[in-house]
Amino acid sequence: MGQVEKFVEPKPYKYRMIPIYYIIDDCGCYNCISHSKDRDGYIKLCRDGKFYRAHRYSYLITKGEIPKGLLIRHLCNNKSCINPDHLEIGTHRENYQDWKKSGQTKKETIHLSNELKEELYNSNCTIEELAKIYNVSHTTIIKTRAKFRDQVKVKRSKDKPSIASDKTKRKKAIKASSKI
Ligand SMILES: [Zn+2]
Repeated sequence: MGQVEKFVEPKPYKYRMIPIYYIIDDCGCYNCISHSKDRDGYIKLCRDGKFYRAHRYSYLITKGEIPKGLLIRHLCNNKSCINPDHLEIGTHRENYQDWKKSGQTKKETIHLSNELKEELYNSNCTIEELAKIYNVSHTTIIKTRAKFRDQVKVKRSKDKPSIASDKTKRKKAIKASSKI
């Protein structure tokens, strides 16, 4: 997990504003950590009295105007991501197809990724921080940590006897060779 970066905003604003901070993950996603999410799970922010969804704002200031009636799609399926390279203009229909696909792939990644589980398990971040970073619920973090802890326990208890038996094998081999 990368360090905290500040999102560059070219326009000087009249009113006080909260700077945007993000963490780059292994997928290259800029996970926004400075602002909270709306009901739909998108990061929300305010600039000069206007409310934006952070990914739309990111697109707007880096790539330009968003044509009316069109929306900004996350190519990475990560709603917290504000990396302009992961954003693309699309239609509602395309967005719906993305959403349908993400439902299938998300299940698989949560189920399969042992690396992610290990990362979650070893991380010093709080559950709240992890939930924000990985864009999952608190329950998912807690359950994943508990499951991984059990896996580690099983692994350790399996490893122990095999190490011991290796040692005894080696001892036997040394004894046998010393006899010759
Ligand atoms: Zn992304």
